[in-house]
Amino acid sequence: MKKNLKWIFIFGGVIAACVFVIIFGQLKTEKKGAEIYVDQKLYKVIESIEDPQVQSITVKTEKGWNKICYAGGEIWVEEADCKNQVCVKHAKASFVGSSIICAPHKLVIRVVGSSQSAADAEV
Ligand SMILES: [Zn+2]
Repeated sequence: MKKNLKWIFIFGGVIAACVFVIIFGQLKTEKKGAEIYVDQKLYKVIESIEDPQVQSITVKTEKGWNKICYAGGEIWVEEADCKNQVCVKHAKASFVGSSIICAPHKLVIRVVGSSQSAADAEV
């Protein structure tokens, strides 16, 4: 019985170490946000796209509209009224620096690391 208890402690310790590593790893990982540009002008900054619940914003321009959704560190165009639908068919953007472009609407969605966004804005 005492031997079993010892193993429980060892396993408990291993699990605790794993949890610690996972939490620590997530803290180190950059938080992701997104910037939306219309006609090369910053239209909106999304502070975080990490929320597991899908959120959406609709960007309306003179040329048309794009419904942009984001969740779990990914951002994508759900719907748009552009002619070619390239932005809608585009794969979800999840890496910092990746972007989705809707050429007919001159709309650019860029994934940014939230800690970098201030520096990026100057460029
Ligand atoms: Zn489009």
